[in-house]
Amino acid sequence: MPPETLAFPAPAPPELGQPVEVAPGILWLRLALPFALNHVNIYLIEDGAGWAILDTGINDARSRAWWEAVLAGPLAARRPTRLICTHFHPDHVGLAGWLAERCGIELTMSRTEYLTTQLHRRWAEPPEIDAHRAFYADCGLDEATTLALLERDIGYRWLTTDLPPSYHRIADGDVLSIGGRRFEVLTGGGHAPELVMLLCRADKLFLAADQVLAKISPNVSVWPQEPASDPLGDFLHTLAELPMRVPDEVLVLPAHNLPFRGLHGRMRELSGHHDARCQAVAEVCAEPMLPAAIVPRLFPRKLDAHQTSFAFGETLAHVNYMLRRGWMVAEAGADGRRRVRAA
Ligand SMILES: [Zn+2]
Repeated sequence: MPPETLAFPAPAPPELGQPVEVAPGILWLRLALPFALNHVNIYLIEDGAGWAILDTGINDARSRAWWEAVLAGPLAARRPTRLICTHFHPDHVGLAGWLAERCGIELTMSRTEYLTTQLHRRWAEPPEIDAHRAFYADCGLDEATTLALLERDIGYRWLTTDLPPSYHRIADGDVLSIGGRRFEVLTGGGHAPELVMLLCRADKLFLAADQVLAKISPNVSVWPQEPASDPLGDFLHTLAELPMRVPDEVLVLPAHNLPFRGLHGRMRELSGHHDARCQAVAEVCAEPMLPAAIVPRLFPRKLDAHQTSFAFGETLAHVNYMLRRGWMVAEAGADGRRRVRAA
């Protein structure tokens, strides 16, 4: 498929920690992340006398210091009114508990994302660690990669803060009135189970979080607590549905990289990418394979631990998607571990 053309109206991102206006009444704030993907975009939406905050960055000293500086500087005259978190990943929800308490504001989230955050915070507990270790071994991961994945699972607890004990639930089809503007709530699956997106139809603004990104294919991963889940099926379902709900001419305000126009074309590209990956998985799996053995064949370049965890989860997502549709079959090997091969 030929590459689709995207337009980037803001050619460069703002300086870290320095909000800039990216659309009327919308500030774009960028915070750093200590990963290969080294930043997250946060948006501040004009909300009457203050600002609604969309996402938070991870829980680390640097992000807290930036927030303190932003609250004391650019936001000093107009205090935060509410916090909306799009999904459970730590770069989005990491400082939710801290920020809600610090600013005395309510947290707004979808129910599944609120509960999934609580679930992943449990992953630092011994029963979860043991269950995950067994799952990774069954998939054929070596000891070093297993340790890296366990570190990732346990690390979630420290990259996030305790969520407020109550929250304002939003769901697909709801409408949020923010500063007199009408934002439709849409939810998407695959990258996260009930990821929140906000569409302001009148102003042609689409706050897409991680559902659609300009340069990266959003990670779609199977997690150990749902080993047979089909997040890729969920993701492709959302990609198929969004063009019918969101006009192509919106300015997409994503959580990573630059804002862009060309939403529908980008969704077609992402679908095409996953079709090609399924084809590649089928080619690799002519013979029965442990799921972990597929990863280096699909991702031949050297990956750090964080990238390996994404690559492994994504490979499983493709395998599960194909198993569900009968494009692959699973069989037990002599050691009792599950192998998969193309049907
Ligand atoms: Zn995410």
